[in-house]
Amino acid sequence: MSISSFFPPQRTLMGPGPSDVNPRVLSALARPTVGHLDPTFIGMMDEVKTLIQYAFQTNNTYTMAISAPGSAGMEACFVNLLTPNDTVVVCKNGVFGARMVENVTRIGAKAIVIEGEWGRAVNPQQLEDTLKQNPQASVVAFVHAETSTGALSDAQALCSIAKQYDCLTIVDAVTSLAGVELRVDDWGIDAVYSGSQKCLSCVPGLSPISFSEQAAELIKKRNAPVQSWFLDQSLVMDYWSGQGKRSYHHTAPVNSLYALHESLVILQNEGLEQSWQRHRTMHNKLAGGLEQLGINFIVPKEERLPQLNAVYIPEGVDDAAVRHTLLNDYNLEIGAGLGAFAGKAWRIGLMGYAARNENVTLCLAALKNTLP
Ligand code: PLP
Repeated sequence: MSISSFFPPQRTLMGPGPSDVNPRVLSALARPTVGHLDPTFIGMMDEVKTLIQYAFQTNNTYTMAISAPGSAGMEACFVNLLTPNDTVVVCKNGVFGARMVENVTRIGAKAIVIEGEWGRAVNPQQLEDTLKQNPQASVVAFVHAETSTGALSDAQALCSIAKQYDCLTIVDAVTSLAGVELRVDDWGIDAVYSGSQKCLSCVPGLSPISFSEQAAELIKKRNAPVQSWFLDQSLVMDYWSGQGKRSYHHTAPVNSLYALHESLVILQNEGLEQSWQRHRTMHNKLAGGLEQLGINFIVPKEERLPQLNAVYIPEGVDDAAVRHTLLNDYNLEIGAGLGAFAGKAWRIGLMGYAARNENVTLCLAALKNTLP
C-alpha cells in the first residue's frame, strides 16, 4: 500500500465555520516548532493572553486558550463552576443552548431550561420571570450568537438581569467573538469561551476562554475536584498564569498557538470595533443581494448575526444539489441547516477573513447561476 500526501482543494469557506484562514495565519503555523516550555514560547503565550484579553475586552487574569475546540471551552466553564448541588438557568434557543443543558445535567446539577423560539434572540423578560420564580438558581448560561439559527441575543441585558439575582454568567461567544460587539468586563460576564475557527479566522482546535475574578475564586475554593482532569482549570492555570514557575500540564499545541497569536495580531491591527463594523458592512451587502434573489432571512432584522446568515431554502429548490454545485463548480462552501432547520435553511457565514467583498460577490453570483 502506498498512500500519497494529502493536498486539500482551495475552497472559499462561507459556512458556519471553519472560516477562511488568513494566509498570514497559515504561514505562522509553518514556523519551526519549539519546546512548549521554551522561554521564547512562554513569552509568546503571554502575548496570546494579552491579545485574548483585548478580543474579549477583559482584564481577567484567568484568560487563556484551551488546547481543544469550542466544545471543550464550553465544557471547561461548566465542569469548573458547577457542582451537583447547583441550579442553572439555561436559555436555549438553538442547538448550542441544548448542549449547555447536556453539560449541566451530566454534572448532576439541575437545569431550568427557558425554551426560546428557534431563530429568535433570547427573551430577557423570560429570564427575569424565571429568576424571580427560582431564587435557588446561582448561574445563568446562554449562547450570545446561536450559530444554528443566526440569532444574536442581547448579552448585556441578559447579564444585567442575572446580576440583579446574584447569578454568575456563562456565555458562549464561539461565533460572536470579533464579529459583533462583546464586552466581557463591562457586561459582567463571569465565564466566556470562544473558538479559533470562526471570526478569528484561525485554524480550528483552540478555545479562548476567560474567567472573572469571582469565577476564578470559586474554582480555587472548590471542595470536590473537577471531574475532568484535563479541563480542571486550577491545574491549567499554573501553566498559563505567568506568575511564578510554569509547570507542565499537557503539551501545548505549539504551532496552533503561533497561528492563534497571528490571528489575534491581525485583529489588533485592524481594531476590534473596525472588525465588528466590517462584518456588519459585508452582511448588509450580502443581505441586499440575497433579497434580490428572492431569498428570505429566518431571523428578524434587528436580531440577525452579521457573521451567520440563516436563510430559508427557496420553495422547490433541492438543498443538497445546490450545495453540491456550489462546492464542485465554485469551490464555495455554505452551511446546511442544523437541528430544527435541517433541510429547510442554509447558513451563509461571513466570518473573519471570509467577511470580504470578493466573497460576497462570489457567493451571490454562484447562487444566481445555480438556482433554478
Ligand atoms: N458553540 C457554538 C455557538 C458553536 O457555533 C460551536 C461550533 O460551531 C460550538 C459551540 C462548538 O465549537 P467546536 O465545534 O469548536 O467544538
